Order: sequence, then structure tokens, then C-alpha cells
Amino acid sequence: MNNSHQKDGLHSQLTDQFGRKISYLRLSVTDRCDLRCRYCMAEDMVFLPKHDVLSLEEMYTLSRAFIDRGVRRIRLTGGEPLVRKNILWLVKALGQEIENGRLDEVTLTTNGTQLPLLAQPLYDAGVRRINVSLDTLDPEQFEAISRRDKLQTVLDGITAAKAAGIKVKINTVAMKHFNEDEIPELVNWATNNNNDITLIETMPLGDVSDARENNYLPLTDVKTKLDQAFNLTPTLYRTGGPARYFEVGNTGARLGLITPLTNNFCDGCNRVRVTCTGRIYMCLGQDDHVDLRAALRSNDPEILLGQALDKAMGLKPRGHDFAMSNGRMIGKVNRHMSQTGG
Ligand code: SAM
Ligand code: SF4
Repeated sequence: MNNSHQKDGLHSQLTDQFGRKISYLRLSVTDRCDLRCRYCMAEDMVFLPKHDVLSLEEMYTLSRAFIDRGVRRIRLTGGEPLVRKNILWLVKALGQEIENGRLDEVTLTTNGTQLPLLAQPLYDAGVRRINVSLDTLDPEQFEAISRRDKLQTVLDGITAAKAAGIKVKINTVAMKHFNEDEIPELVNWATNNNNDITLIETMPLGDVSDARENNYLPLTDVKTKLDQAFNLTPTLYRTGGPARYFEVGNTGARLGLITPLTNNFCDGCNRVRVTCTGRIYMCLGQDDHVDLRAALRSNDPEILLGQALDKAMGLKPRGHDFAMSNGRMIGKVNRHMSQTGG
């Protein structure tokens, strides 16, 4: 990058129209997955043709463009990031950016099925913290919700991650008629194993087989019950993400609550999401996006990517529109979470 580019502001901190600084990128590396969680995907999802998906080299170039503009943390997600072939190549490349002081963290959100094999190589590549999604500890319930019989593999994966030295946070989607009664046990299990745990309200993202309202569980109710069981103390701990955190009794573990429907959290939003086809979405709950792939594959990727990112900043909305209204979930978007990158 020469000086004239810098004068043009191509290296300036990404800042949206409301003055929020974007320091966190969630990069979806694939739309594919080895599970089919009912709230996330239909059983017969049609996946993208491979030629539409960015190569890992393109994802690295894109990541560096974000790092040049002030992004300090990158979370790889999907689909299931660890089913992307050669994913360790990208993790290692980003790990080098940490070593060079240009990035603070590379992390992942994963369903955990590949961790028995990949936990140690991930640690070696520079990963120190991951989120593992786990909605139940009951094998039959696990199969019912994910349509696959893989609970033990996930539990082995969590054990492997911790043995490798990676801190694990559990992500649990809270669902009525499914894990509502099991949530205290999940919190107990997580804290006994020295894992933080975050509960998430279901969001209206894409069509799935069940009406989302049927399983919607407001975390306001769950928190009241958990407070009685565990004595939750509010903390000021924030990761820059949407979760609000509580200390669980005197276990030293934290419980996070992500409440898109009962308590909008958008004011301090510092993140953007890029899909595996190179679309940047400024908000999980809005459809506005900019195509970064065209810029990336152009004759002048550096300039055009810079311009595309500036355009994207102008489109970042104040927040999502998810809400409950008269028993209906509103603010729906048509993309599944696995397409935008969770
Ligand atoms: N496959 C990885 C996993 O499951 O962790 C990463 C991608 S997944 C889309 C990321 C997160 O989104 C998971 O924690 C999952 O439970 C959550 N998720 C998926 N669909 C959701 C929805 N409609 N509402 C709330 N959370 C959802
Ligand atoms: Fe796959 Fe994650 Fe979606 Fe489950 S939540 S289907 S593991 S992408």
C-alpha cells in the first residue's frame, strides 16, 4: 500500500454511520455442515456450488483487508467451519497475523464434531478460545434436535479442546418444549467443567420445518429461574458481543445471555459478517449487503475492496428488527443462520 492510498483513507478504521467502530469480523468459511439442527437448517438444504465459494486464499486476502482497516478479532464460522477442507491453512495464516501483532485473536464457533482430530492443530495454529454449540446432554435429544447421532463425539471434542489448552464456551439455543427443563443441568455441567455458557434466544432466520414461535423461549423467564438456583451476579464483563454476563454463584464461571428478542443489544455493535461467497452483511437481522467477491476478483482488489468496505459502512443499520408481537415473531430475514455465518 503506498502513501497516496493511505491519504485516501483506505487504511482508516472501519466506522459506521453511527460512529461505531468495527473491530470484529465473523467470517463464514462454508455453508455446509455435518449436522442439521432444526432451528438452523432444513434437512434437505441446497448447498452452494463450490465455484461460488471463496477460496481459502481469497478469504485470507479479505481478512487482511479487514485487518488493515482496524479489525482485531476474527471468528471463523459457517455452516460448520471445521468441515471446510484445509481450514487449518487459513487458521495458521491468521495465527501468523497474531504473531505479527496485527490481530488480537482468531477463534471459531463450531459444533465440535471435528474437535477430537483438530483441537491440537487448532491450538498449534494460534487458537486459544472457541465456542462450542451444545443444546442438550441427552443423546436422544441431541439426535432429535441435530438430526444426527453425535453427542459423544461432541463431548469428546470438548475434552480434546480443553486438553489442548483451548478455553471452551458453550453456546446453547434455549427452546421451549425441548431443553427448557434441562437448562439448569446444562449450566451446572458447564460450570462444573469450568466452561462459561451462553444461552441464546431463537431468531427468525430462514424457514425451518417447525414454526419458530412454537419453541420460542424468552430468556427473561429463564433468568429468573436460574437466579433462584444459582445466585447470578451481574458483571461488567463484555466481549464486545451481544451477550450480557453473570457470575454463576461462586464457581468462577460466567453465564451469558443473548436476548435479541427480549432485550435489543445493538447499540454497541462492533461486528460485521462475511459469507463464504464474499457478501458482507452489516447486521444478522437485515438484508442489506455488499458483494466483496467482485472487488476481490477484480483487477484492482486493493482499491475496490476499500471502496466496497466504505460503502458497507454506510449501510450498517442501527439494529435488527427481531421482536415478538401478538405471539408472532417479526423482523424475519430469509437467510438461514448457516448462510450468513452464526
Ligand atoms: N456450526 C457451528 C455451530 O453450530 O456452532 C457454527 C455455525 S452456527 C450457525 C452458529 C450458532 O448459531 C450456533 O450456536 C447455533 O446454535 C446458532 N443458531 C443457528 N440458528 C439459529 C437461530 N435461528 N437462532 C438462534 N441461534 C441460531
Ligand atoms: Fe450446523 Fe451449526 Fe447450523 Fe447446527 S447450528 S446445523 S451445527 S451450522
